[in-house]
Amino acid sequence: MYKDLAGKAAIVTGASKGIGAEIAHRFGREGINVIVNYHSDKSGAQRVVEDIIAYGSKAIAVQGDMSQEASAQALVDAAIHHFGRLDIFVNNAGMEMPAPSHEMTLENWQRVIDVNLTGYFLGSRAALKYFVDNGIKGNLINLSSVHEQIPWPTFAHYAASKGGIKLLNQTLALEYAPSGIRVNAIGPGAINTPINKEKMNDPEKKAALEKIIPMGYAAEPCVVANAAAWLASEQSSYVTGITLFVDGGMTLYPAFMNGNG
Ligand code: NAD
Repeated sequence: MYKDLAGKAAIVTGASKGIGAEIAHRFGREGINVIVNYHSDKSGAQRVVEDIIAYGSKAIAVQGDMSQEASAQALVDAAIHHFGRLDIFVNNAGMEMPAPSHEMTLENWQRVIDVNLTGYFLGSRAALKYFVDNGIKGNLINLSSVHEQIPWPTFAHYAASKGGIKLLNQTLALEYAPSGIRVNAIGPGAINTPINKEKMNDPEKKAALEKIIPMGYAAEPCVVANAAAWLASEQSSYVTGITLFVDGGMTLYPAFMNGNG
């Protein structure tokens, strides 16, 4: 628990399930009031809201496709309207649509870039405008991936979006450091969420995945929420522009583990 977080207000995008839901839960337990954004899963978002209210914090579910220009501003407006403030904005909404690159349609490419990268720019812009206009030393957290660093065949758009987030994150951190606004990313490895459900339910695919994780297992979303809470708190007050990898060592070139190479 981080005492300085109680009474703050946060927005978490794509928070009806998976990592976003876990971060929203953790924030609620820290005493943060949360705008729970969802795209289509209204009942999932409502369950997260009810849990947060049961912890004693406030929460509201707000629908919005984060690839659309008006959505991020609507979330910021909702935070101000319901909570009277905004301190933390978490860009989390993301998607995968794998395809061999030579067959990837422009529509497929564009959708992933629109949600995973342009959506993060739009979310960051709306939050930063509020922070700057109101002199708030706010906190931006961007869900990147180990694939901001590790290439990923058939996921060219996904890897390009996460590589883009890395420099968006660093650029915004540099641009707004003089205002006391901190901008950091989290780079998860393999986390047990709906995005990985198919892989985790197939014993062969699961074993192949575990082989490239030095710690040997895919983790639960709470490990990412722990990182988000720390980055949101004053405990990380001198940290900006990083990607905090939460990956069981996946970015450490596991093929070299036994002295190979
Ligand atoms: P998930 O599929 O379980 O959840 C993604 C959420 O984003 C869902 O709630 C979905 O509805 C929402 N979303 C998708 N498109 C949206 C849109 N246009 N507008 C608003 N919401 C939208 O995935 P997850 O594993 O929880 O992933 C969360 C983030 O973490 C993503 O950015 C993902 O790339 C990243 N990540 C996940 C893993 C992992 O192993 N699970 C690893 C690395 C990075």
